[in-house]
Amino acid sequence: MSRGGKGFLFVVAAPSGAGKSTLVNALLAREPGIALSISHTTRAPRPGEVDGRQYFFVDRASFEREAAAGVFLEHAEVHGNLYGTSRRVVQGELAAGRDVLLEIDWQGAAQIRRSEPACVSVFILPPSAAELERRLRGRGSDSEAVIERRLANSRGEIAHAHEFDFILVNDRFEDALDELAGIVEAVREGRRPQVSRHEDLIRALLAS
Ligand code: 5GP
Repeated sequence: MSRGGKGFLFVVAAPSGAGKSTLVNALLAREPGIALSISHTTRAPRPGEVDGRQYFFVDRASFEREAAAGVFLEHAEVHGNLYGTSRRVVQGELAAGRDVLLEIDWQGAAQIRRSEPACVSVFILPPSAAELERRLRGRGSDSEAVIERRLANSRGEIAHAHEFDFILVNDRFEDALDELAGIVEAVREGRRPQVSRHEDLIRALLAS
């Protein structure tokens, strides 16, 4: 199932509001053989978020101390907060032959491509700029200022979509989930599926 006894490392990125977490959670429910890496962040927990489940919530001083000590496989500042992936957990799972999925931003993905060149990266696009904004507002848990900042940042994230091995559009949820599961299955079987690069949609999202 895994290459040379080592697990596969999947990296999934998307602009905030593309539905990445919902898709990833559904993928993990369908594919229990993939371990989701729980990141560290300096962001405050949203209502309902639990320390150690969605994230390890830490203060900036301890994050910076751990980053300097090399605790993180990658780390980046996103929307004004620091986020990082535990090197020990990810490398431990991969060495034990388990597949690992990182839900991180494009900056983290770029660092992972350098340190783990065998990783498989997937970028999730929203079907349109209007739908991205509707989904961001629909979440209802972020302040207007946070939503505005995330909308502005989404174009910066989408501009890096072409760096990813696979690009998929989260229009109809079930279709996007099938496509994501299909990518995982193909990688595990040593196949490289042909998927669209969605050039026209990326151009439209960047022009919006
Ligand atoms: P949120 O605060 O909405 O959960 O996440 C904001 C952004 O930070 C998302 O794009 C998410 O993928 C990214 N992110 C979450 N964890 C990490 C991480 O460990 N490293 C990096 N580079 N980005 C992360």
